[in-house]
Amino acid sequence: MSERIIVLGIDGLEYNLVEEWDLKHLKQKAYTKTNLDDFGVIITPLIWAAMLTGQKIQEIEDAFLKRARFFSENPGSVKSQQKQYWYAKMASKILPEKLKNKLIKKVLPNPFKETYDVLIRKKYRTIFDYFEKPWTNGIPAYGRNVTSDELKKAKEAAIAGNLTPLKNYAMQVFKEDKEKLFNALDMDHDIIFWYTPFLDELEHFFITKKLRLLNVYMELNTMVKKISNSVDEDDVIYIISDHGMEVVKNRKNIGIMGDHSDHGFFSSNTGEIITRPQDFFDLVIKHRKQ
Ligand SMILES: [Zn+2]
Repeated sequence: MSERIIVLGIDGLEYNLVEEWDLKHLKQKAYTKTNLDDFGVIITPLIWAAMLTGQKIQEIEDAFLKRARFFSENPGSVKSQQKQYWYAKMASKILPEKLKNKLIKKVLPNPFKETYDVLIRKKYRTIFDYFEKPWTNGIPAYGRNVTSDELKKAKEAAIAGNLTPLKNYAMQVFKEDKEKLFNALDMDHDIIFWYTPFLDELEHFFITKKLRLLNVYMELNTMVKKISNSVDEDDVIYIISDHGMEVVKNRKNIGIMGDHSDHGFFSSNTGEIITRPQDFFDLVIKHRKQ
């Protein structure tokens, strides 16, 4: 088998935790933080879409900004030059929180549902167009919907204080994704772009439970060890996350204690480094078959 590119996309993998726990296999030969300053909102599908296309996809950012403005108590604080919708301004001023949330669900479409396959639907040029035998188990904006009714229920239970359904759900997602990855590694593909959302889902509620989280990070570290020991010497392995997770204050009352941090994670077994998620596109297609 000739050189393959193996991308391990781990949603929410936090650079600072990999560093703190010195997880050597996740770090590989070279590793770095990625800079997310180009994004008006740090939202999962927006950043994965940037990796896949080499650019910020404005229509994804817009879909999420619309909602962010509506939710924000100070809508002007959302980074953007665009004008704010009058009804958002009005609602945020006059309506109590509960009513506001009800209204937004009626007025605005769910941006996750709107954008989960936008790159395919609207035929954006992606990394996969440069390879003959690509494989992916689905990536946000490229066919992977990270929302589900089951997840929604598990989050509601977590907010009410019962973390077990969320933990079970996330670990089941990880298990299923992992099986797909190991099957794909046995097949003939020139690029494998694996993705899993389980860590992002977990960390929003588990970010303060360091010991639990350490176990999960160690499991990921072991998974990478197993993969890098079994692939060919020529195979390129990249590990990338959209953003990490950090503890936010004053959230204890609603149970959600983590929020997306302002940087992502990247590592390679080649020594290569990127500084922004958008740069991932060029890095990968550089390796394509001529
Ligand atoms: Zn994410």
